[in-house]
Amino acid sequence: MTATILDGSATAKAIREELKSQVDSLRQRGETPPGLAVVLVGDDPGSRVYVDQKQKACDKAGFYSIMSRFPAATTEAELLGQIDRLNTNAAIHGILVQVPLPKHIDESRVMHAIDPRKDVDGFHPINVGKLMLGDDTFFPCTPLGCLELLKRYRVPIQGKRALVVGRSNIVGKPVAMMLLREHATVTIAHSRTADLPGEVGRADIVVAAIGKPEFVKGAWLKEGAVVLDVGINEVPHPTTPGQRHLVGDVEFATARERAGWITPVPGGAGPMTIAMLLQNTLKARNQLVSAK
Ligand code: NDP
Repeated sequence: MTATILDGSATAKAIREELKSQVDSLRQRGETPPGLAVVLVGDDPGSRVYVDQKQKACDKAGFYSIMSRFPAATTEAELLGQIDRLNTNAAIHGILVQVPLPKHIDESRVMHAIDPRKDVDGFHPINVGKLMLGDDTFFPCTPLGCLELLKRYRVPIQGKRALVVGRSNIVGKPVAMMLLREHATVTIAHSRTADLPGEVGRADIVVAAIGKPEFVKGAWLKEGAVVLDVGINEVPHPTTPGQRHLVGDVEFATARERAGWITPVPGGAGPMTIAMLLQNTLKARNQLVSAK
């Protein structure tokens, strides 16, 4: 069996175009467009690439966006002051603070300071709690992108055995809760899991969010399984000396021969994450405007 590719790039492009046409209609009616503020502290090159991608996607979809860049030496109080200003800025409906933050800043204090109604990353404890309770909320963008890909490709979830490898707050735990909401039977694996190959072999749906290049082997998979590879790992290129390239947490070449559906890296979960950020920002805008 050769897997169907779950094409995150093409799906994300289609979603961005759908969002753009909604935003165009708002602008034509003279209504407020969705506004996203991205806050970047320091000069981590990886973070800079991510925030540039996010801002470019905003611009292309007709969103209003602002970027607040702060030097690495910014104090926590200065950053909290900026969050406060963004919380009360009526043109801004979504606030995203790019992590990691410099070590002298308490990341959770900053995340907790964001107005939960503008928490388009879905990391505020109120929104995490709503996810647990089964209420509507801002679902974190990467997990939401994974679920959206499955829905758009009409991959069944209900009643399936899902394995999430990784238990981080930004990917593993929320994606597990979201699969549970879709009525999958969910197992969460982590670094202390006793028999990972055995767990993988029992799963109809495998989400890999580990951060270790090609850690999950194709041979472990159940024939026909759905594989969502969230990992992004930069490794030396196998044939071009001195060059580096991106691989996921799943050994793609062998996995695609056993899986029924699989996301590539790059071009799977990554582009979907950005499309979901825009979707969440439009949702925040609509909720804030209708609450006025
Ligand atoms: P974390 O480092 O926060 O979590 C990694 C998880 O993997 C931990 O729960 C850890 O377990 C688990 N793990 C580590 N080693 C093993 C092992 N040997 N067996 C089983 N589980 C193991 O990572 P994130 O969740 O933040 O990110 C995961 C990956 O996804 C990274 O490559 C990251 O770059 C990528 N990513 C991609 C995004 C996208 O847009 N596509 C967005 C966010 C992340 P334990 O808890 O026991 O330590």
